[in-house]
Amino acid sequence: MYVVGTAGHVDHGKSTLVKALTGIDPDRLQEEKDRGMTIDLGFAWLELPSGREVSIVDVPGHERFIKNMLAGVGGIDVALLVIAADEGIMPQTEEHLAILELLRVKRAVVALTKRDLVDADWLELVVEDVSARLQRSTLSGAPVVVVSAVTGEGLADLLATLDRALDNTPPREDLGRPRLPIDRVFTIAGFGTVVTGTLIGGRLQAGQELEVQPGGLKARARGLQMHKHKVEVAQPGNRVAANLAGLSTDDLRRGQVVTVPGWLRPTLALDVSLRLLPAAKPLPHNATVTFHAGSAEAVARVSLLEGDQLQPGETGWAQLRLGEPVALAKGDLFVLRTPNETIGGGEVVEPHARRHRRRQADVAEALQLLQRGSPEELVLRAVDQRELADLPAIVQRSGLPADQVRATVQALLAESRLVQVNEHYATGASWERLTGRLLGTLSAYHQQYPLRSGMPKEELKSRVGLAARLFNQLLERLEAAGRLVQSESSVRLPEHRPAFDPAQQREAERLLEALARDRFSPPSLTDLAQELALDAELLGALVEQRQIVRVGESIAYLPDAYDEMVAKIVERIRASGSITVAEVRDLFNTSRKYSLGIMEHLDEQRITRRVGDARVLR
Ligand code: GDP
Repeated sequence: MYVVGTAGHVDHGKSTLVKALTGIDPDRLQEEKDRGMTIDLGFAWLELPSGREVSIVDVPGHERFIKNMLAGVGGIDVALLVIAADEGIMPQTEEHLAILELLRVKRAVVALTKRDLVDADWLELVVEDVSARLQRSTLSGAPVVVVSAVTGEGLADLLATLDRALDNTPPREDLGRPRLPIDRVFTIAGFGTVVTGTLIGGRLQAGQELEVQPGGLKARARGLQMHKHKVEVAQPGNRVAANLAGLSTDDLRRGQVVTVPGWLRPTLALDVSLRLLPAAKPLPHNATVTFHAGSAEAVARVSLLEGDQLQPGETGWAQLRLGEPVALAKGDLFVLRTPNETIGGGEVVEPHARRHRRRQADVAEALQLLQRGSPEELVLRAVDQRELADLPAIVQRSGLPADQVRATVQALLAESRLVQVNEHYATGASWERLTGRLLGTLSAYHQQYPLRSGMPKEELKSRVGLAARLFNQLLERLEAAGRLVQSESSVRLPEHRPAFDPAQQREAERLLEALARDRFSPPSLTDLAQELALDAELLGALVEQRQIVRVGESIAYLPDAYDEMVAKIVERIRASGSITVAEVRDLFNTSRKYSLGIMEHLDEQRITRRVGDARVLR
C-alpha cells in the first residue's frame, strides 16, 4: 500500500479532486464530524487501475495550516501537487514545493486542475510556466496532467499517471524500528483511544507492547486498522489507526511517536545538516525558529557551527536546541519555519547532541562522517566514543538497525578492527585508552607504594570506574595477555617486585637481628619500630614477604621460630589432647604475654580452638 499526499495553494481544488478520484470527501468524513474532531488533515483511499491500493493524505493549503501539511507529508510516496489552471503557481504552491524538496519527496504528479475555467491559450501558458518552474526543482521530471473535477476531464489519465509514478517506488524500508508519528488522537465509544499516522521504519503487530515518546508511556496495541479494516500487521508505509490499551487521549498528542519499547529517546539538542531556501533571508547564529519533523513541532534555537550567518541557498552544520523534547532518530528530515514562511530544513545527523565549540574543523568532520559514513565507520565511531560499548549502546549511538550493527560488529571482529571483552567491544584506540588508563593507574600505585606487592582489586576497580563484572573480565583478559598478574584480592604489573632501597634494607636487617636475639620472646615490635624508625610500609612489606610473622600488635617472630612454635604446640596437643596457655609458656620458656598471644593467634588461624582453659586442635 502506498501513500499519496496532496499539496498546493488553498482553494486550488485539492479536496474536490480527492473526492472526484475516490468518492470520499476527505474534509467531511461523517464519523469524524460525529466525533467532533477538528478536521485539519483529510484521509481517503482508492484503488488504482493496476489494483494498487493508495491512501491519500489531503493537506489543507492555507498558510496557517502549513504545519498540518508537514504532519501529513512525512512518509508519503508520491506527492500530488495541485495547481489551479486559472491562477497558476501561487505563494503556497512555492512553499509546498520547497517543503517537498526539503523532505526529499522524489516522486510527484502535478494536477493542473480547474481546466474547465480556462481557454486553450491560457492553459498553454500555465503549462509552460509550471513546467519551467519544475525544471528548477528536484521534481523536474514530474508529469503534468490537466484535469477538471467538475467535468471529469483528465481524471482517468491522472489515475494512470499516479500508477506509473508508483511503478518504481520501492517498498518502504523495514528497519525493525517501527515509528508511528501521531497526527490524530481521538476516542471511539466502546473501543477506546485511537491514534493515527503513517507508519515508517518497521511493522506493527496487533497485541504488541508499545511505547509512546516523548513521555515513555507504555501501551498495548489492542487493535490496528487500515482504511477502516482490521489488520493483524501494519507494514511500513501504511496509514494506520492504532487502538492503544492503557492510555487515554489526555496522555497523547500530535507530535508524539508510537514505537516499540527501548530504543527511541526524546531529545532537546540535535546536530543537523541545515539548508536555507534560496528565497529565505540570511539566517543569523542563534536565530529562533519553529522546528517540524514527523508530526512534531517545537520552538528551536539555531546554533550555527561554522559561521555567523547561513546564506540563502547554502547548507551548513548546525545544532538545534529545542524548547520541548521531540523523539527523533538519526537521518530524520525536518523543516524550519518562521511564523510566516518556510525558511529551510535538512537532516538530523546526531539526535542526541553534545555541546560543541563553534568553528571547529573536527566537529564538522565528525558530523560529516555521521551523515555519510559507512556502517563500519559508524559502528567504529559509536564504539570509540566510549572505551567499551555493548551492542545496545552501539545501536543507540550509530543510529543503525540492530541487525546491521550485529553483522558489522562480526565483520570488524574478524578483521581485528574491534576487540571483544565478553559482551563489550572496543576499537583499537579505545582499547589502548582503557588498558592504558588501567595499567597506568596500577603503575602509579606501584610507584607510590613500592614495597607493596600489588594493588587491591577493589581500589583499582573504583579508580578505573568499571562495573564489577566487566572489570573482572578485563583483568582476566589482561592477565591472559601477560600484561598483569592477579592474586586473590590484588593485582600487579608483571615486572613489579617490592624492592627496598639501601636504607630500608639496613633497617629491615636490624629488625631481623633484634628479633633473632630472643627467638621465642622477641622484643616488642612497636618499641623496635620506634627505636629503628621503621615505617608502616616497611613493616607491611616484611609481613607480606614473610620475613617476619606478626602474631599481634606488638609481637612478631622470625618465620623459623614461628614455625617451630606451631609444630611443637601441635605435637603437644596431639600427644596429650590439649594444651593450656601456661603449658605453652613453659614449653618456650617465655611469659604469659607471648603464650597468650600465640594461642589467640592460632585460634584466629583456625589451627586451635579454645575449650575452657585449654586449646584443642580444630
Ligand atoms: P482546496 O482548498 O485546495 O482543497 O480546494 P477545494 O477543493 O476546497 O476547492 C476550492 C474551490 O474550487 C471550491 O469551490 C471547488 O468547488 C472549486 N473547484 C475545485 N476543483 C474545481 C474544478 O475542477 N473546476 C471548477 N470549476 N471548480 C473547482
